[in-house]
Amino acid sequence: MAIEQTLSIIKPDAVAKNLIGEIYSRFEKNQLHIIATKMLRLTREQAEEFYAVHAGRSFYSKLTNFMSSGPIIVQVLEGEDAISRHRAIMGATCPKDAAPGTIRRDLAFDPSNPECHDNAVHGSDSTENAQKEIDFFFRPDEIFPRTG
Ligand code: UDP
Ligand code: MG
Repeated sequence: MAIEQTLSIIKPDAVAKNLIGEIYSRFEKNQLHIIATKMLRLTREQAEEFYAVHAGRSFYSKLTNFMSSGPIIVQVLEGEDAISRHRAIMGATCPKDAAPGTIRRDLAFDPSNPECHDNAVHGSDSTENAQKEIDFFFRPDEIFPRTG
């Protein structure tokens, strides 16, 4: 096991639902340390750049519109195997498919909503993408490692 850093986003739906503290609490209870944090609103262009890997997918337009629809909280999380452990806490991409106890199921599931884009949180999926995504939002002097 290795100490890793990963990029996490609390998406506009969860910020609007006043769930910032609830989500931070889940990170901290799971030994993920918040070592950088800020609130901001993405422009449509910035959302398109962040999700460029999904350009051309059927959900890209809805996703980037949603991600630029309101303020988000971005943070760097640090801990043992932070990338995969964070993904496990988040749950499956679509809240309807996510297991009970995960952030996406507990905090984003709405039986009347068939969409997947408003799923409360984002998390990097690999070491390489974590570094790219951290660099997208944070300068090195805005990050305060403290594990290990
Ligand atoms: N998404 C969507 N419909 C889909 C798949 C993805 O709206 O069928 C959105 C959703 O917000 C997801 C994001 O696009 O979080 C990025 O998709 P990805 O497959 O990378 O899922 P994630 O890594 O966030 O679980
Ligand atoms: Mg992804």
